[in-house]
Amino acid sequence: MKEGNSNPKLIFEEKKAIVLFLWLFYIVYYSFETFYFISSNSVIYKQKTMIPTSMGSLILIMAVLIFGVYFLKKGNPFIVKYIYIYSYLGIDFLDTLMSYWGTKVPYSSGNIVEILFFLFSPIFVNKRYFWVVSLGLIGKEIILGLVLQSMQVLMTIVIYIILALIAYTVLIRFNSYIKSLTNAYEELRQKEKLAVIGQMAAGIAHEIRNPLSSLKGFTQLQHERFPDTNDYYPIMIQEIDRINSIVDDLMYIGKPKKIMFEKASIEEIVAYTLSIIQYQAERQGITIETIMAGPLPPLHCDEKQLKQVFINLIKNAIEAMPLGGRIQIHVKVIDKQQKLTISIQDEGVGIANENILNLGEPFFTTKKDGTGLGLMVTNQIINDHFGEIKIESFLNVGTKVIVILPIINKNN
Ligand code: ADP
Ligand code: MG
Repeated sequence: MKEGNSNPKLIFEEKKAIVLFLWLFYIVYYSFETFYFISSNSVIYKQKTMIPTSMGSLILIMAVLIFGVYFLKKGNPFIVKYIYIYSYLGIDFLDTLMSYWGTKVPYSSGNIVEILFFLFSPIFVNKRYFWVVSLGLIGKEIILGLVLQSMQVLMTIVIYIILALIAYTVLIRFNSYIKSLTNAYEELRQKEKLAVIGQMAAGIAHEIRNPLSSLKGFTQLQHERFPDTNDYYPIMIQEIDRINSIVDDLMYIGKPKKIMFEKASIEEIVAYTLSIIQYQAERQGITIETIMAGPLPPLHCDEKQLKQVFINLIKNAIEAMPLGGRIQIHVKVIDKQQKLTISIQDEGVGIANENILNLGEPFFTTKKDGTGLGLMVTNQIINDHFGEIKIESFLNVGTKVIVILPIINKNN
C-alpha cells in the first residue's frame, strides 16, 4: 500500500492494525521486562546495575504512547508504526549500551517484543516498513555485538534473518493477493458500468426509432407531393438515415444482434460497401483501390453485418484523410484456404500511441462529431464471426486495419 493513502477504507484498516499492534506491544514489552526482573537467573538484576537505566527506558517507551495515540487520532496513522520502530531501536540501543558498557556482564539480547515487529511487518502490507524493521533490528544486533564484543548476538541475528525471510514471503503474498482483488474489483466495476450504459443506450435508441421512421416517411411523402419546392428534402432524408445508423449502433451495445450465417461473396460485399461510400470519398479527393488476390471462395458470414463492418472501417479511413489521398483494400486467402484477410490501408493522420488501447471502447472518439461506436460495433461483429482485427498505425503516415475471418465457421 502507498504511504499516506487517503482512501478512508485503507486508513480504517491501518488504524485497526495499529491498535492491535499497540496493545500487543505494551503487553509483551512489559510482561517480558517484569518476567526478566523477577527471574532470579538474571545476573544483571541481581547486581542492580541495570535498574536505573532500565527504569528510564520503561518510562520512555510509555511516553511514546502519547505520540502514538496523537498521530493515530489526529494526524497520519500511517507513521505510527515508524514512530514505534525508531523509538524502540533508539531506546533499546542506548539502554543496552548503558547497562553493559564497561561491565563484565555478558550481553544477552533485547526484548521478545522485537519478534512482534517482525510478525506485524506483513500485516501493515508495506515494503518500506518491512525493510526498516528488518535492517533496523538486525543492524542493532550487529552493532551491539561489535561494540560489546559479544558472540551471543550471532544466534539472535540468525533467528532474525529467518524471521525476516518468513515475514517477507508473507508480505509478498499479501501484496499480490490484494493487487489481484483490486484488479478483479476494477474489472467488475467496468463491466457493470458498461452494462448500465448499454441498457440506457438501447432503451433510448429503441424509443427514438419509431418517431424517426415516421419522420422519414412523411419527409419522403412531402418530397413526392412537392417535387419542385426545394432541394433540401434529399439532405433531410440523408440526415435522418444518419441518425438511424447511430441509433442502430447504440442498440448494439445493449444487446448484440443475432448473427445469420449464410454463404456470401466477399467481392460483392466489398463492391456494395464501395458503392455506398464512393460519393463521400470522391468529394474529399480520395481514390479507393481494390486488389482481390485470385478467385475467392464463398464466405460463411452474416452479409449485412459484414457490410456494416467495412462501411465503418472505410469511413474511418476517409475521415482520417481530410486532405485527400489513397485508400488501398487488399483481399486475400491465407492459412491454406482456411482464412480470408481484408486489409484497409489509408494515408491519414494515424492513431496516437496513447489512444491505441482505447480503440473499440464505447464512446471513445477523437472526432468533433464522432460517436465512438463504429469500432465497438465492428469488434463485436468480427468476434461473432470468430475472426480477429489488427490495427497498425503510424502518426501522420497512415493506418492499416486488417480483418481476418475464418472462411468456414465450424461452430455454426
Ligand atoms: P468515430 O469514428 O465515431 O470516432 P470509431 O469507433 O469508428 O468512432 O473510431 C474511434 C476512434 O478511433 C476515432 O475517433 C479515431 O480517433 C480512431 N480511428 C479509427 N480508425 C482510424 C483511422 N483509420 N485513422 C485514424 N484514426 C482512426
Ligand atoms: Mg467511425
